[in-house]
Amino acid sequence: MSVAEEFKFSLKVMINREKTKVLFAEVDSDFADVLLSFMTLPLGTIVRLFQKHYGKQAPVIGSLNSLRKGLDELSNAHFWTKQCKLMLLNPRSSFKDECGKLKLNLDHDTPPARYFTCENWDCYWPRYENVGTCYYIDRCSCGKPLNREIGITPSTQPNDCQVFTSNTTSFLISDHLSMVPNVTGSVIQTLSILGITDIDGAELRIVTVGFNEIMDLLKGSLFSRTPLTDLILNKRRLIDFDAEKSEPGSLLHEMVKEVANSNSKKMIVKVMIRKSTNKLLFAQAEEDFVDFLFGFLTIPLGRVESLLDGNARLKSIDNLYRSIANINGDKYLKSEENGMYVFLLWVLMCTCAILRPGSYVKGTGMFMVKDDLTIKPLCMLSSISILNDQKIPLSDVKELELEIGLTEGLSILRASLTSACALTDGLMVNRILMKQPKEEH
Ligand SMILES: [Zn+2]
Repeated sequence: MSVAEEFKFSLKVMINREKTKVLFAEVDSDFADVLLSFMTLPLGTIVRLFQKHYGKQAPVIGSLNSLRKGLDELSNAHFWTKQCKLMLLNPRSSFKDECGKLKLNLDHDTPPARYFTCENWDCYWPRYENVGTCYYIDRCSCGKPLNREIGITPSTQPNDCQVFTSNTTSFLISDHLSMVPNVTGSVIQTLSILGITDIDGAELRIVTVGFNEIMDLLKGSLFSRTPLTDLILNKRRLIDFDAEKSEPGSLLHEMVKEVANSNSKKMIVKVMIRKSTNKLLFAQAEEDFVDFLFGFLTIPLGRVESLLDGNARLKSIDNLYRSIANINGDKYLKSEENGMYVFLLWVLMCTCAILRPGSYVKGTGMFMVKDDLTIKPLCMLSSISILNDQKIPLSDVKELELEIGLTEGLSILRASLTSACALTDGLMVNRILMKQPKEEH
């Protein structure tokens, strides 16, 4: 067991009179840092951590498990370098070094980053602006690939300092993970922010929380509306993703619409539909769309929330994200160069980075993308076997060509977090089909 796994936190927890619900927990800045570090975890890392920790009982996050499995099974020959595939399988958080200072770091086993600079020794562009972690993939401002490895001196900050929060502040966390600084002021107002209306007969408990419990909390933050109650009173809740079903794509941020209406790149995808049932069988796509989908695994949770305007339908993580956005950053969060304040800015500024230049996947042919985002090389045999396995005659199949821009891309991202039919839900295939003229049979 690593040092990171041995550390234990002591939380003060207020429980209701009936002992059925955690009202709130009071936590120190070390614990708050760990909670905020959830936001720095790339989606692929969360899938990997769950699989490592829970084994066969690992929860399935929408279509992300099948997306990662398909990536793992895809031959190295489809990637520009072997490193590209490894990087997608083990994405590194930009906050990896910062998170190394946490009292308990969930992502402690991802290998340290390697840094690369311009291959041109005489490049005149500033080196500090042109350092990347993706060999050959990241590009220098001069256009050449960043493929000359350089060493970067690790930060000399002492290990006992805070990572994201200020160390003089403690925080209150509600059952559904809204977080507020624990400061003297209006008690009623603070309780109301946390959604607490009744504290009659409430009981204080001291609870010890270690690595296993933090993993359960990460899981609960994605799947439960009451993660603290689940953790502390051991109430297992059913996963209820559909409770907040809303129009897919309709809640995307206005800013995203603006970007989408600009000259952002569009990808072309052909979807195969079974006419008699209007079910999506699979999509046929080139490497740009495949690159885009694999890129989901590298997006940190906090950036996913910012892209989806704090409404990723990821239960309590949505609340945590929105509550952080409301905290006075100057006062309660670290504002030094590597602190939380910068983290928030970074999360908010990177809205457009979802359509990245440079690619991981080589254009070696077409790919088949299943509804659950399993990706395979497209070949006639595999297409036919899908039809044969489901006993679908060719006459019952039609092909639609769709354009995927940023709006559609974000809609697929959102669906991939909660749905095993990410393409159908993300592309609103059912709605597109309703608009199609009826065909004679
Ligand atoms: Zn250069």
